[in-house]
Amino acid sequence: MDLFLFAIGYAMLTGFFIFILLFGESPVFRGTPIASAHWFLTQGLCNGGEYLVARVFGARGSQALDRAYSACCERPNPFLQVAYLAMLAVGLWIYWTNLFALLPNPWVGEEHILTGTAAVAVCLAFFVAACASDPGTIRASDPPSVLAAWHVLYPLDGHVFPAKQCATCGFERPARSKHCGVCGKCVGRHDHHCAWINNCVGLKNIRLFLAFLVVNLAMCSYGALLSALILGGEMERRGVFEVKLINYRTGRVVPMWKVPTKVMEWLVFYHPLGVAMFLFMCIATLLMAAFLSYQLYLFSVGRTQYEMFKWRDLHHQMIEQAEADAEEEARRQEETARREADPAAADASASAPADAAPSGRRSLSRGSGRGSGGVWTLWGLLGGRKRRLNVEVPPLPRNIYHKGFAANLWEVLMPELHLDRARKQALAEARAAKGSQKQEGEAAGVAGKGQGGGSKDRGSKKAR
Ligand SMILES: [Zn+2]
Ligand SMILES: [Zn+2]
Repeated sequence: MDLFLFAIGYAMLTGFFIFILLFGESPVFRGTPIASAHWFLTQGLCNGGEYLVARVFGARGSQALDRAYSACCERPNPFLQVAYLAMLAVGLWIYWTNLFALLPNPWVGEEHILTGTAAVAVCLAFFVAACASDPGTIRASDPPSVLAAWHVLYPLDGHVFPAKQCATCGFERPARSKHCGVCGKCVGRHDHHCAWINNCVGLKNIRLFLAFLVVNLAMCSYGALLSALILGGEMERRGVFEVKLINYRTGRVVPMWKVPTKVMEWLVFYHPLGVAMFLFMCIATLLMAAFLSYQLYLFSVGRTQYEMFKWRDLHHQMIEQAEADAEEEARRQEETARREADPAAADASASAPADAAPSGRRSLSRGSGRGSGGVWTLWGLLGGRKRRLNVEVPPLPRNIYHKGFAANLWEVLMPELHLDRARKQALAEARAAKGSQKQEGEAAGVAGKGQGGGSKDRGSKKAR
């Protein structure tokens, strides 16, 4: 029972931790302890670490930390790829030497040695494919119809994606694309840069990335189940289920398998690596399931991981604007009321700076950690933020890229089909634009002749 409670508590804690990391920045949790916990985990700990390094090792330490950060996070590097391969290799070695060696047993047949190894091989194949895949790179050297196809597939929405030039690649960036600072290239329907595959995840390879997640989830859950069954079968083979424990004081006799701590002791003593592998596979399964669920959630709202940040920033901006407007309005009303009550005093206070007014609504700037009077308050350090006023925030603009869960999924499952269709549409549009330009030119030419060449051709400058 103790073990069961521990497992439940552990799973809940892990789930909560993942939830905070994934959704803590959502405007829904603005000003709540969840947002503070997210800030603390994603920035507060890093800031604290940086501060400690600077205090202990001085400027040199800070520079070394910056260089290490840049090498790890801002340039392509195979660190996590190697870590993934090492995990696969070490995991398979532990299974072969500690778990498969116990087969066959009364619960599991020998064929699982083959299927277990095959599962690892499948994961490895998808890993290599995902690493080598093209995420949907957009190059300045691409034929104009290719860039036009991206623009047709994802037109600008003017909110999250206003017109923008990529300074590095030198073209007008299609909506939903992003210049990845690590890979140094523009990627269409950019989802995120995945350090595990050392590659971007975009329109053209997200299906491979999803498949990679699915096969890893399958392998981890299969591995967890298999290790549990192998250890259970081993307990049966060794007669552990027949062992009885006697309490000499009370004379009570209980089967050992009913006492989880004793079972755990037996397992950890005889099969420590097997137990460790089981726990590792359980954690990996939880993480994989959480990440895959998050990806599926993104399809249900028609956003990429990158767009989640963009929409959140837009929402924060709108909230801040609404709060500032409401605060200004409240201040004006207060001023009017005071002026009406006591015109002489109101004139005197109006000349004082607005910040000095004891309105009680001065707030901490988000994440600055600095409370009023320059004092570092605990709440401020934790990223806490007071809500200024209860204001009505206008609804977010419509997400024009969201076409429903099935259509969003279909788009990334068949990117070639959608891009090809967009390319044909772009060509047709270009042809139509050329035709109308020619007609206008001819009409202007005829009119020009009629008027003795007085007017000039004002051909349309329609882009694309
Ligand atoms: Zn670019
Ligand atoms: Zn990248």
